[in-house]
Amino acid sequence: MEILESVKTRVYKFGNKTADGNSKMKNLLGGKGANLAEMSLIGIPVPPGFTITTEVCTEYNLLGQEAVVNMILPEVEKSIANIENIMEAKFGDKENPLLVSVRSGARVSMPGMMDTVLNLGLNDEVVVGLAKRTNNERFAWDSYRRFIQMYGDVVLGMKPESKEDIDPFEEIMEALKHKRNIQLDTEFTIQDLKDLVYDFKEAVKKRTGHDFPTNPWDQLWGAVVAVFNSWNGDRAVYYRNMHGYPSDWGTAVNVQAMVYGNMGNNSGTGVCFSRDAGTGEDVFNGEYLIDAQGEDVVAGTRTPQQITKLGSLRWAELAKVEEKDRAKNYPSLEELMPSIYNELNEYQQKLEDHYKDMQDMEFTIQDGKLWMLQTRNGKRTGAAMVKIAMDMLKQGMINEKEALLRIEPNKLDELLHPVFDPKALKKSHVIAQGLPASPGAATGQIVFFADEANKFKYTILTRIETSPEDLEGMNIARGILTARGGMTSHAAVVARGMGKCCVSGAGALKINYKTRTLTVDGKEYHEGDWISLNGSTGNIIEGKVATIEPELSGEFAELMNLSDKYATMQVRTNADTPKDARIARSFGAQGIGLTRTEHMFFEVDRIKAMREMILADTVKGRKHALESLLPMQRDDFEGIFEAMQGLPVTVRLLDPPLHEFVPHQLAQQKELAEEMHISLEAVKSKIVELEEFNPMLGHRGCRLGNTYPEITEMQARAIIEAALNLKAKGIVAKPEIMVPLIGTVAEFEMQEQIIRNTAQKVFEEYNDSIDFLVGTMIEIPRAALTADLIAKKAEFFSFGTNDLTQMAFGYSRDDAGKFLPIYIEKGILKVDPFEVLDQEGVGQLVKMGTEKGRSSKPNLKVGICGEHGGEPSSVEFCYNTGLNYVSCSPYRVPIARIASAQAAIKKSM
Ligand code: PEP
Ligand code: MG
Repeated sequence: MEILESVKTRVYKFGNKTADGNSKMKNLLGGKGANLAEMSLIGIPVPPGFTITTEVCTEYNLLGQEAVVNMILPEVEKSIANIENIMEAKFGDKENPLLVSVRSGARVSMPGMMDTVLNLGLNDEVVVGLAKRTNNERFAWDSYRRFIQMYGDVVLGMKPESKEDIDPFEEIMEALKHKRNIQLDTEFTIQDLKDLVYDFKEAVKKRTGHDFPTNPWDQLWGAVVAVFNSWNGDRAVYYRNMHGYPSDWGTAVNVQAMVYGNMGNNSGTGVCFSRDAGTGEDVFNGEYLIDAQGEDVVAGTRTPQQITKLGSLRWAELAKVEEKDRAKNYPSLEELMPSIYNELNEYQQKLEDHYKDMQDMEFTIQDGKLWMLQTRNGKRTGAAMVKIAMDMLKQGMINEKEALLRIEPNKLDELLHPVFDPKALKKSHVIAQGLPASPGAATGQIVFFADEANKFKYTILTRIETSPEDLEGMNIARGILTARGGMTSHAAVVARGMGKCCVSGAGALKINYKTRTLTVDGKEYHEGDWISLNGSTGNIIEGKVATIEPELSGEFAELMNLSDKYATMQVRTNADTPKDARIARSFGAQGIGLTRTEHMFFEVDRIKAMREMILADTVKGRKHALESLLPMQRDDFEGIFEAMQGLPVTVRLLDPPLHEFVPHQLAQQKELAEEMHISLEAVKSKIVELEEFNPMLGHRGCRLGNTYPEITEMQARAIIEAALNLKAKGIVAKPEIMVPLIGTVAEFEMQEQIIRNTAQKVFEEYNDSIDFLVGTMIEIPRAALTADLIAKKAEFFSFGTNDLTQMAFGYSRDDAGKFLPIYIEKGILKVDPFEVLDQEGVGQLVKMGTEKGRSSKPNLKVGICGEHGGEPSSVEFCYNTGLNYVSCSPYRVPIARIASAQAAIKKSM
């Protein structure tokens, strides 16, 4: 073991067309390091350097600085010597100095989340050598002051002391500008820069109690350790949690020879893309600045120029710049440095061809020589993702399977909902963050009560939490915001089903229903104030933000067709209304996997009959109320069956605890008493009777139908009658009646008997019949454990992974929002198990249930209808477990279709 440890390579060199690593080693070298190695291997000029592996970061976190430095010292010394050879310069040399950059680089790019130090290796003597060597004293001193500034910030912690303070170095620069009566950094004289260096070092000593390190090797180790530490910095941790990246990945450290874009008019620096990252258009594009370092391009203090002439002309049109002005003051690189441009154009094409994907590149021109600093697969919008994949397929760069695997299924969301105008978003003020429960963009005026959702034209229903009673208001509102609740809270599930933007569980919101106010960070917002929700990021934004309609481009449709060629597992939808069913069909749903019948009971005319049924003390009384529900329910089913035109429709019998249907406020209780012609006391006592300590584990699911068989009778009748009525009109309906929440086979048998007896009766009455199935949900662990017994009776299974997750973890779906975010923050859980199926635990119940079920009924049809049915990694798991279909909310159907195709492709590879 000891020996193995000591021979492990921890430092990988690159440069001069050779490299120890390559692009396949992203996990070990980080994305940036792996690509630098690869670029060097394929003959692209990159400044030489080396990568300290991500494993060393993990070792550092375990063993500490001293042990790790000792471990890698010999390799780092050798690697520095290698750079010195290639660059013909020496690290720390007074005559001919080599300077380096030190950058982070995790296996995935985390832009701006970790730290970087440039110009490392400078001190009071080296700076003089650099000035002589480059014959540019100003450049040398400017580099030195930038170095102290960056190193001071990143390594020595010279940050503003409080949020009101400005950066300590900026403060010194501002004071000097004031004294010298100048505005810009470029107006500093060489002497000013020297003074700044002196003052900066004094400030460091004063604040840290130590001199600024002068030994380049001390500087190097300081920077390496700082990059490792930045992996656990607040920004990085936040970003990791947001994307679900585990903390044990670690970051690599890239040390590279510095090249300079700020050595005069024959130098420059820029960023470019091989295709348009916003639209996907196949045009080379990017920005650059002459006589500048990388940070100047992004800092926004100077207006960057376009790289291509085409881009420059387009830019000028948008920026309303006259052609004369453009050509003179903002020429493209293509016009200004044609031969450098040609070389750059050649490299971008070479890199795109090599990686077979859109590249995002950084480059520097040092005194007429072009260096490529970085390349990576470019981040892109959902629209660009689809267009680039389909274009590359048509261009013969990738094959069909590769095109499908290029799609990040969740990003298709952007193509399915209205989105904020990116320009407007840039200027917006985010006041708080919640869970991105249902994607989309919504702007509206705050209302606090569901029954006031139409108080203004566009509203954001803002609640501590929502309940089924709020359904109508949720439907009316533009967006839904809740202070409590997780990804499967009522608000989240319902909103996703509606395709409505929702941000849930925003704990920072203090909502006061009495005063109708929402307080965040001490600032109060009132009913009627405008806010905007970004359901894709969870951001809550002050005021109005303009939205744009999504464009469903031709390529999107082509992509979906292509997915059908490879997907074998079907995709159904969870839909409760004909409208949902139609939307889902238009997205390619192959049936309905779950109709939650209770959602239909909340509409005004029905809730009355429902309450009458609940308040009834006798079977006769209940039957009377159910009789008035029957025609309405039958109409619902007719609408849904018709919308699905012969595709299978799984209808679940009543599931939620009855107390959800009764009013909890006194005024409404009084109203109900009057309506029902009974005393308020009677209403109250019934409600007390219905109260449960843990309603999620109480009187719900098949327990309702088994204690009140007349409910099941009514629902079965409504389903069968609806199908028969359609049959008479020549429309085929294929109902699959689903019994919820069974734990024992006897619970199923009793329900099945009621359903079949009722069907038989209806057939006799109609003198006609239809085919239908009776199956069950598997959502209680005991059902999964005894699936072989249940499958002897049930004709299909559908895993209700919302309840299965709740019961396997013992996390209440309604209360988990209180602790899940903390669990995720602390790393106890990597992701929210209500969002991403827990394959290790809950997934095993799904697997066992499927295997046991098929052991007694080999062709048993098995699906999933929990929220996980539209989550790509869960869809892949379902495919690998042999499920026949996944079912998800309408707006997730395209996502699940792609995920299903991808799962099949991955397995075949
Ligand atoms: C489930 O439990 O996964 C399910 C689909 O049912 P519901 O969310 O309605 O409880
Ligand atoms: Mg359930």
